[in-house]
Amino acid sequence: RQEQYAALRDIASVTKDGVEIALHMNAGLTVDVPFVRDTGARSIGLFRTELQFMLANRFPRMKDQYLFYKTVLDAVPDRPVTFRTLDIGSDKILPYMATIEEENPALGWRAIRIGLDRPGLLRMQLRAMLKAAGGRDLRIMFPMVANVAEFDLAKAIALRELDLIRRHGHATPTTLDLGAMVEVPALLWELDQLAEHADFLSVGSNDLVQYLYAADRDNTRVAKRYDNLSVPVLRALKTILEAGAKAGKPVTLCGEMGGRPLEAMALLALGYRSLSMSPSSIGPVKAMILSLDMEQATAFLASLMANNDGQPSLRENLRQFASAQ
Ligand code: PEP
Ligand code: MG
Repeated sequence: RQEQYAALRDIASVTKDGVEIALHMNAGLTVDVPFVRDTGARSIGLFRTELQFMLANRFPRMKDQYLFYKTVLDAVPDRPVTFRTLDIGSDKILPYMATIEEENPALGWRAIRIGLDRPGLLRMQLRAMLKAAGGRDLRIMFPMVANVAEFDLAKAIALRELDLIRRHGHATPTTLDLGAMVEVPALLWELDQLAEHADFLSVGSNDLVQYLYAADRDNTRVAKRYDNLSVPVLRALKTILEAGAKAGKPVTLCGEMGGRPLEAMALLALGYRSLSMSPSSIGPVKAMILSLDMEQATAFLASLMANNDGQPSLRENLRQFASAQ
C-alpha cells in the first residue's frame, strides 16, 4: 500500500471530472520536512511550532528559534511554509514553564491568548520567523483566535516587528501573509470581518468540532459520541468557505478530518479545494480524489444535507456513495 501511494507522488491530485485539489502537509519537527518531497505535497500548510518548544528543556532563545525556522525554510526552498505561532496550553505543555492549574485547560489560557498577554514571547517568535524568511515568502497564522480584535492585535505586532527588522537593515520577507486559524466557534459569526482583515483562513477542525459539540477531543468517553460528518459541522465548515470566497481569501482545512478519505470527500463535496494533512494521509486522500466524480459528490452531499431530518451523522450515506465510486 505504501508503495502504491508513493507511486502517486508525481500524479496531479485531480478528480475524474477535472477539479484540481491542493494537498498540503502538516509538520512540526525538522525530521518531518523531507516528507514534503516524498509525498509530493504542494507546501507545508501547517507547521506546529510548539513541538520544538515542547522538546527543549528551556524556552528557546531568539537565535535558536531563528536557526530552527531557517533550517525548515532552507529544506524546502521551492515550497511555501505556513508557520503557526505557539499553540501551548491545554494538551500542549512546556515542562519548563510554571504550570497553571486551570479547571478547564482547553478553555483556558492558551495559544494566542498567552501570546497577547505576554507579547514579548510572541514578538520574539515573530522576529525569528521574519528574519529567517529574509528574501523569501512567509506565511504565519495565529492559533485559537476567538474574535477579530485578537487577530488585529496579533497582526499589528507582526507588522511592527517587520518594520523594526527593516529599519535595522535586515533582509525582510518578499511577501508576508498573515492568517487566522478558525477553531473557536464565536468566529463563525464574525467571519466577514475576519476574512477582510486576514490574508487567509485555516480551519482547525480538531478544536472547532471539540468546541462546537462541547466534547473534549481527547476524552474517549465523549470524543466518538458526535460525528464530524454531521449537518451542524458541515454547515459550519461551509459557512467558513463562503466567507473566504466572498472576501477573495483562500481557505484551507488543516485538522485531522482532512486526512481521512471519507471526511476529505465530504469536504471536497462542500467546496473545499485545499487540505493540509499528516504526510501518511496524502497518498490515501489522493487515491480518493483520483476516483471521485466531483459533480456527483457535490449534488449528493447537498441533497443529503437538505433532506436531513435530524440524523446525527451522514457517515453511512457517504460511505455508500464512496463505495459506488
Ligand atoms: C486543529 O485544531 O484542528 C489543528 C489543526 O490544530 P491542533 O490539532 O494542533 O490543535
Ligand atoms: Mg487547534
